[in-house]
Amino acid sequence: MRLILLGPPGAGKGTQAARLVEKYRIAHLSTGDMLRAAIAAETPIGLKAKDIMASGALVPDEVVVGIIADRIDQSDCANGFILDGFPRTVPQAEALDALLKQKKLKLDAAIQLRVNEAILLQRVENRIAQMKERGEAIRADDNVEALARRLEVYRSQTEPLVHYYGDRRILATVDGMKSIDEVTNEIGRILEAAAAPAPARPKKQAKSAPKATKPKPAVKARPAAKKAKKASRPAGKARAAAKRARPGRKAAKPTKRAAGKGPKRPAKKAAKKRAKTPAKGRKRLTKRR
Ligand code: ADP
Repeated sequence: MRLILLGPPGAGKGTQAARLVEKYRIAHLSTGDMLRAAIAAETPIGLKAKDIMASGALVPDEVVVGIIADRIDQSDCANGFILDGFPRTVPQAEALDALLKQKKLKLDAAIQLRVNEAILLQRVENRIAQMKERGEAIRADDNVEALARRLEVYRSQTEPLVHYYGDRRILATVDGMKSIDEVTNEIGRILEAAAAPAPARPKKQAKSAPKATKPKPAVKARPAAKKAKKASRPAGKARAAAKRARPGRKAAKPTKRAAGKGPKRPAKKAAKKRAKTPAKGRKRLTKRR
């Protein structure tokens, strides 16, 4: 199972991803989490991303594409993965397509969590309060200013992906305003439908479908009646004789020569000539003619 979760900050992508990981035993790939880990570890990528992220802008495409390319090669992704926060731009989506194509993998679904923007600020404020309660560090971009920027970036850069995956017929939209459990159940239904084999086409369409798609039996079965008919057929010369003797069969029209009208062939002379000519020569003669 390989899927993408699309949605603005605060839509609930992370919450749903955690549940899907449990249910399907697949890897959760959150570029936001990976970048935050890189910042904490002060890696070159982390140093590069730190200020950009704090402002609510996007880190360059090639940075996140590189991270994802390395990550999906790891063994915990063999069973599938959820992409959370990636792709976030059309070039990222194109890079992902190329990457998956190269690995002969395909996406099962892109699920959009649609939410009322008015509630997002409220959700992020709740998140901040909960983190404070738990004594966790507040994200550098969880403040009113950065959130406004993140939303603006989502609208202009990420939302076009709804059409991108819509065109590829893998987009499903879920009402992210419903309860967490309802959203989980809805996503579950979508994924089950995506994993199910395609329903049989109606007869009319099946007729016009190319022949190659028709399932063929491994061994061409001969209908029993045909088999029996063949078994009762006389073989070889006997069959020819039976054909000639068939009642109602038109008598063969005599040839001109047989009727004495055609040119006479001096049978004896021709036979003598054939006997004299070596087989090889005869062959050549026939060829030249
Ligand atoms: P949210 O979805 O709540 O905005 P994320 O944790 O997904 O938060 O991302 C936080 C920040 O990390 C983004 O605002 C951006 O700066 C950076 N980031 C994460 N994923 C990407 C990505 N695919 N492309 C560019 N920047 C990203």
